[in-house]
Amino acid sequence: MPASAATDHVASYYAASANPAPERPALAGETRCDVCVVGAGFTGISAALHLAEQGRRVVVLEATRVGFGASGRNGGQIVNSYSRDMDVIESRYGADTARALGDMAFEGNRIIRERIAHYGIACDLKEGNLFAACNARQFQALVEHQALWERYGNDRLELLEGRAYRREIGSERYVGALLDHSGGHLHPLNLVLGEAAALESLGGVIHEHTPVTRIEHGEPVRLHTPQGRVVADRVVLAGNAYMTGLLPPLEGRSMPASTQVVATAPLDEASAREILPTDRAVEDGNYLLDYYRLSADRRLIYGGGVNYGGQDPASIEGAIRPKLEATFPQLRGVAIDYAWGGTFLLTMNRLPQFGRLNANVYYAQGYSGHGVTCSHLAGRLIAEVMAGHGERFDAFAGIPHLPFPGGRMLRVPLTRLGAWYYRLRDALGR
Ligand SMILES: Cc1cc2nc3c(=O)[nH]c(=O)nc-3n(C[C@H](O)[C@H](O)[C@H](O)COP(=O)(O)OP(=O)(O)OC[C@H]3O[C@@H](n4cnc5c(N)ncnc54)[C@H](O)[C@@H]3O)c2cc1C
Repeated sequence: MPASAATDHVASYYAASANPAPERPALAGETRCDVCVVGAGFTGISAALHLAEQGRRVVVLEATRVGFGASGRNGGQIVNSYSRDMDVIESRYGADTARALGDMAFEGNRIIRERIAHYGIACDLKEGNLFAACNARQFQALVEHQALWERYGNDRLELLEGRAYRREIGSERYVGALLDHSGGHLHPLNLVLGEAAALESLGGVIHEHTPVTRIEHGEPVRLHTPQGRVVADRVVLAGNAYMTGLLPPLEGRSMPASTQVVATAPLDEASAREILPTDRAVEDGNYLLDYYRLSADRRLIYGGGVNYGGQDPASIEGAIRPKLEATFPQLRGVAIDYAWGGTFLLTMNRLPQFGRLNANVYYAQGYSGHGVTCSHLAGRLIAEVMAGHGERFDAFAGIPHLPFPGGRMLRVPLTRLGAWYYRLRDALGR
């Protein structure tokens, strides 16, 4: 569904159930600050909040509304670690990088929980997420995944062999699952709105309806908007897939991709208990994965698919309903109240891109589908590097990012071709 207006949130279940939040005025005139953050999603607001906690004067500029991008539309799944497994990181980038990233793999999750507790954010937090295997190959991958994550300190994993997963998921689709008791799920728009309010309580300033159209690099940096200008000592670029033109060196090295979500009408208690008896979040192990969970008012929030390039299909319900009903035939014909899409940013190696454009302009983006936790980690690492402790930020910044094959013109068709192969492999159960 399109946004109800070009400057408003997309018409989603989250927007319809958002906690009250003020509409912040657009920037008019010139303002001065220590750090200007571009983009008010998890990355931008998390960075701004950490920086404000350090006592810095922070101004956030958001093109539309706080949480307008992926952060206010996603599946709400708190998934630990990164979109690339630690063993691949180890083999490609060496033991030191793997150890550094492994030590931070569960920190984003902890930051979210600290934020919720410290600032009293009401965002329907629930415990536990499952990785469900659709075939024997995927189950074997979960066995290895468990061993790896345990090696990096997650001791809250439970492997559900054979039909043991049925105590968690009322579907016949799977052959087993891995339960991460330390994961969870929440209302993502209410999380970012709560974090934005926390930022403002510390003196941070947010301007909505304020796209940054041009950056004049230098010391200080000047950021231009339609009716104003910010003069800042430092800048954080946090526009992710919704930002164009401000980070030219990375544009061929990342690719917007959209994924779609529906929310059913509220289910009766018995149906909700039948499909997700323990109320956890689930994602399957397919290359183009399905992900789902229950909302606080017992809607099934079901997402899936990826469109490379970032377009939504003509009918989101038409794309998602067959997946939902294949997983839960007992919900055939269920009413769908909301359907929406969102765009995230993919990188070639599926690892996030953290770095500096100049000595005083930092960026973090490209979480490749799993960004709820890592964007929160990014915010802390940006605040650390600005405080003169860059070791952890640089562990990410040192990872090379290759351009997508085919460049900006052909990256979409070539990636679709690659995905077609993996989809076929999933369909054949190999
Ligand atoms: C449908 C969907 C489902 C997902 N499900 C999950 C999930 O369940 N779990 C998970 O871990 N991850 C999930 N993700 C990924 C996750 O949501 C993202 O990785 C994460 O939210 C990225 O946060 P961000 O702040 O970097 O970017 P965004 O949230 O996209 O925020 C970027 C913001 O920058 C603003 N902006 C852009 N350009 C400018 C400019 N020039 N000037 C001012 N502002 C600008 C935009 O308006 C936007 O508000 C999902 C993504 C989508 C789209």
